[in-house]
Amino acid sequence: MKSMILAKQSQGHQQHRLLEYPLTPPKADGSVVQVAEGLLWLRMPMPMSLDHINLYLLEDHDGWYIVDTGLNNDITQQLWLTVIKQYCNNKAVKGVICTHFHYDHSSLASWLMATFNVPLYMTHGEFYTLKTLSNNAAALGGDNQLDFYHRAGLPREELEVIIKICRNDPFIKFSPPSFNRLREGDVLSIGKRRWQIIIGEGHSPEHACLYCAADKLLIAGDQVLPHISSNVLVSELEPQGQPLKNWLRSLEKLQTLDPDTLVLPAHGPVFRHLQLRTQQLLEHHCQQLDILRAFAQRGAEFNAYQAMKQLFKRSLSPIDSMMALGETLAHLNWLESNNELLCQRKTDSGVNCYSASRSPLTAENTL
Ligand SMILES: [Zn+2]
Repeated sequence: MKSMILAKQSQGHQQHRLLEYPLTPPKADGSVVQVAEGLLWLRMPMPMSLDHINLYLLEDHDGWYIVDTGLNNDITQQLWLTVIKQYCNNKAVKGVICTHFHYDHSSLASWLMATFNVPLYMTHGEFYTLKTLSNNAAALGGDNQLDFYHRAGLPREELEVIIKICRNDPFIKFSPPSFNRLREGDVLSIGKRRWQIIIGEGHSPEHACLYCAADKLLIAGDQVLPHISSNVLVSELEPQGQPLKNWLRSLEKLQTLDPDTLVLPAHGPVFRHLQLRTQQLLEHHCQQLDILRAFAQRGAEFNAYQAMKQLFKRSLSPIDSMMALGETLAHLNWLESNNELLCQRKTDSGVNCYSASRSPLTAENTL
């Protein structure tokens, strides 16, 4: 396993600049770009550092399917109405497909369902995660969450700011009433295309990608992005989770798709060279693990918050720092499960402290 990954790494370095972007992206203003016949690409604005989300429209014989929704706000609602009126050839909307539960992808699902009287298509894991987290702002800051971040070494003042921001988040209020379940291997026949559902894990519990093998098209959601690495995080809901292991496995699954696949991601431009990009992402996580290994080898014990400062050197907003801490924990959990780190909860402080293991495994797990 180790040698295979290293071989792939050097290949990745050579090809680092060779991702291709064959299409000029649409502006986030209600315009569209035709990716292929019956397949439109549009963008919705987002008021954050990641300033847009890509959404797609798939044409069926008698209507259109929407893939991902954008944020639940007035601007996005108005843009949807404009796009559908202008570009959908007087055909109705037939359904909404959400790749995963994150609010830029699904928070407008209930509005779209009600406005067009259409069903939602989503995986079981994503639908129920959305259900659980929607309308749940009051539960933020509960004992479980406080204890989780305390164990991770996050200063109380920072945590209080994060919880306040989360409670005021306008986008997590709406949960759709029902769904049609998508499963691994399901095929959606839409127009002339057959879209196979490929499930990914690690960024979210059961993320759906849509793959059309005949036309070599992958609607990738956040499962592979051209310019940024998707957040892979551990949260208080599953503190011993192994999202990084699942994420790496999911990337390897995408590497088996046709090398000529055109990738339609949720953020950034449409691109070619899926294998190169997945390899770059694998390398990125290898490097993050190496930074933590080197930190541990210096000998001092450290907590997750201190490890985060090693991985993320720039200054972080409160929400970014929550995601960075979760991502750090994903890497720490991986190293702990591989017996490279020991984790002990200190009785005096109640904080989890990590140290290098004296007998690391060198089995297949090793990256
Ligand atoms: Zn996401």
